[in-house]
Amino acid sequence: MKKVLSGITIECIKGDIAAQQDIAAVVNAANAQLRIGGGVAGALHRAAGPGLEEECRSLAPISPGESVITGAHNLPNRYVIHCLGPVFGVDKPEEKLLSDCYRNSLRLAEDSKIDSVAFPSISTGAFGYPMKGAAGVAFQAIKDILPELKNVSLIRFVLFDAGALKIHEQCMEEALGV
Ligand code: ADP
Repeated sequence: MKKVLSGITIECIKGDIAAQQDIAAVVNAANAQLRIGGGVAGALHRAAGPGLEEECRSLAPISPGESVITGAHNLPNRYVIHCLGPVFGVDKPEEKLLSDCYRNSLRLAEDSKIDSVAFPSISTGAFGYPMKGAAGVAFQAIKDILPELKNVSLIRFVLFDAGALKIHEQCMEEALGV
């Protein structure tokens, strides 16, 4: 599913965040220490190689809602934007912290003159955020920041399975009026 708003394409696809060949910056659902970990962080670090963890060392730790940017090493991208989502039920207020992840990541991309960004569904794996709520927050945050974006022209959500894709398509429809 794809929607163009103020010249910016927002789309949802099923796929692997570590295999987005045509995207300048991929977003990592990172842990505070910016270490390899599981889920998205594991997939990105494994594909990037050990240089990514090494580059991350001086940037860690980060706090919930914060984003930092590095090179992409062996990934097929130019940059990785690492953000720390809230742990559901622990880091509060979780809606604001999750919204900060999307806003801060897109601001970093904008400041770095990046034209395309791919996000996973932040906080919805190990961090336990219910996906429907998380997707609603994500699309609202994106809608709110769209007027600030001059360089970013493509925002892609990369969802791991058909169920996650369906939830995101429904929330995108509700939030953006597809
Ligand atoms: P968090 O710790 O922020 O919850 P996770 O990496 O555990 O992050 O999971 C975030 C979401 O990404 C989950 O919905 C998970 O199913 C999904 N996911 C896991 N691996 C990948 C991948 N390689 N590409 C895209 N999405 C993935």
